[in-house]
Amino acid sequence: MILPPHSLGILGSGQLGRMFTLEAIQMGYTVHVYSPDKNSPSCKAGAVEWTGSYSDFSSLKRFLDTVSSLSFEFENIPPACLDFIEEYAKSRDEKFLAPNVHSIKIAQDRIFEKEFFNSIGLNTVLYLPIITGNEDFSKFPMPSILKTTRFGYDGKGQWKFTNAIELKEFLKSNPASKESPYILEAFYPFDYEISVIYARSHEGKEFIFPPALNYHRNSILDMTEFPAPIPENIHNLAISSASLLGKSLKYAGVFGLEFFVAGDELVVNEFAPRPHNSGHYTQDGSDISQFELQLRILTGMDLPEQNSIKPCLMKNILGDDYANSLNLCLELMSKDSRYHLHLYQKDEAKPGRKMGHLNFTGQKSEVDKRFFNLT
Ligand code: AMP
Repeated sequence: MILPPHSLGILGSGQLGRMFTLEAIQMGYTVHVYSPDKNSPSCKAGAVEWTGSYSDFSSLKRFLDTVSSLSFEFENIPPACLDFIEEYAKSRDEKFLAPNVHSIKIAQDRIFEKEFFNSIGLNTVLYLPIITGNEDFSKFPMPSILKTTRFGYDGKGQWKFTNAIELKEFLKSNPASKESPYILEAFYPFDYEISVIYARSHEGKEFIFPPALNYHRNSILDMTEFPAPIPENIHNLAISSASLLGKSLKYAGVFGLEFFVAGDELVVNEFAPRPHNSGHYTQDGSDISQFELQLRILTGMDLPEQNSIKPCLMKNILGDDYANSLNLCLELMSKDSRYHLHLYQKDEAKPGRKMGHLNFTGQKSEVDKRFFNLT
């Protein structure tokens, strides 16, 4: 087991690295983060900041030599960097990496991801890889969503089409190639979206939260309601799907798995091989957060047998109307201690940028209605 004050490494230095850092520092660990950014949210929480490119392998090696184990806070890591880390990890303890590089490579490519889901028996929406642009999509159901296979997040790199002619036109001016392929997905008329936060230790011990219900605005997660008020069969299916994925990947670490649900049918959308925005309710609606789970796995600390949870609503605060949002958060907090503010200390508030979130530990019916207007 890695004991405090040993150093733990995180690739990336944004808000997820920050919230990990806060947990780790509380338990006496030192955190080192590596990214091209300076003055990052993680650094402001007390992490040692390494500013370097993901292709500067000599700098990366010095960073890796400094830490006792390594985790990640984002998945869009250049493949050459991942290969370097995988090779490097062979010279260290077998539990140096959590999760393994294989899992990250699957998660960072929407085609690999869907193929993998299907290969282990998880249902996905109907899809078609678009690699040459000569694929026949004349019979593909419409409406459909075309997505870049990599580097998409918060609805970026996605276009909805209502007919094949529009799609053809788009591909004429934005051609597909081996270097920049697309995936075409049938639009799935879901009733609602849920996600599961899943953790698994190197020894294979699992810790799985009940599903949470997610609401999106402009393709960005807006609010999460935990636990999701959903039928038991959907709840059980979501948990067993997450467990199947974790075991199949020989996963060590935390992931968030997203689903679309229509009636009694559940399809897997995607997974993020790290703590997930829809899991921020765990900071106040559970006695163990997704970041503490990540920390425990990274240090070899056992995962708990038991946990108590509270109902929790999580609302993202974006940079669009930041000053007003902050004022409202502070006003709500001055009236009721069940509101918990988490800000990321980002340098600049920009539209669409995630600046923080507000958790409310109570029932949806009890929350101040203005909470829903926070943007
Ligand atoms: P993604 O980046 O794949 O998570 O997509 C962002 C959001 O777009 C999802 O949370 C859904 O609300 C919506 N979306 C993505 N793919 C589909 C689909 N195939 N059918 C319906 N809605 C989708």
